[in-house]
Amino acid sequence: MKKRKLKKKLIIFLFILLILGIGGVTIYFTKDLFWPDNKPTQTGTEKTAAEILEEQGIKLVNKETFVKEANTLLDKGYSSEEINQIYEHMSENNLKEILKSPYQNLENYFTISNFEFAKLDRYNAYQALLNISYQDAVTKVNLNLDEPFYQTVNEISNPNEVTVLVNKSHALPSDFIPDDLVAIPSFPNYQIKDDAVSDFEALLAAAKLENVNFSPYSTYRSYDKQNKLYNNYLKRDPVDVVDSYSARPGHSEHQTGLALDVRSAGYLDDLSDSDYEWMLNNSYKYGFIVRYPKGHSETTGYQEEPWHLRYIGIEHATKVHELGITYDEYYDLYLTEH
Ligand SMILES: [Zn+2]
Repeated sequence: MKKRKLKKKLIIFLFILLILGIGGVTIYFTKDLFWPDNKPTQTGTEKTAAEILEEQGIKLVNKETFVKEANTLLDKGYSSEEINQIYEHMSENNLKEILKSPYQNLENYFTISNFEFAKLDRYNAYQALLNISYQDAVTKVNLNLDEPFYQTVNEISNPNEVTVLVNKSHALPSDFIPDDLVAIPSFPNYQIKDDAVSDFEALLAAAKLENVNFSPYSTYRSYDKQNKLYNNYLKRDPVDVVDSYSARPGHSEHQTGLALDVRSAGYLDDLSDSDYEWMLNNSYKYGFIVRYPKGHSETTGYQEEPWHLRYIGIEHATKVHELGITYDEYYDLYLTEH
């Protein structure tokens, strides 16, 4: 009798277990039907981190690594406002550098488009030395004007481009010869790049209509020719004087086939004042600029050269003319990635 009771209890117990088991399994497999938003906690944590940033006045940026980066910047000591400015203005290159480096005060540089974080100390030093604007300091340091000329020299990688920048810190390879040199139809003894020929003929024709008569007397020059020229000048003048009027080999625009020295009728190697005036006001319409104009020696590193024209195409020549800046500055401001 006792045994039977026990057996009955056991059966009831097992039966309850079975019901609970079936119930549990059913609930487990149908839970998404009843609680469809039952998501894991991972996203919830991320959302909170972003919300914390937002509460501190940081504008969220739609970028996978933003929360991590913003927190890194906060840890370095950047304020919410500084972080907003960094994301609004700074290039991806600069952001990478900023994330790798200790805190720096960047308030004077946020809106300067050609700013490069790696040069910050040089900008600050040059700005303080010359008491110039921060924008000027950035452009001039980018052109290495805070160093002696020829101290930093980068080899040019795009020598056949019409916009190529050649100056005392950008050198052409010694074996570079333009790939499309052609004779100028009106002056068949002189060669320039094919890109510049028709616009040069148009410049000549437009000038002639206004009684401005000039002709080229030096156009494409090879590296070897420039080398001989420069070394001949050294026999006559000290190096710093020669450097003020002649390019060292590899640093001459004449090697690109895009530069022409022109002279007025009756002149040996110069433009008359009136012809120069016409050139300053009109050559850009045909894609040419006076590359070394008056008052810009400190930037170009050369004395004024009224006779030296450089082809950069109509669009860029027009902008350089409108801005009234040297091509060196223009190239850094508008044609260089920072
Ligand atoms: Zn020249």
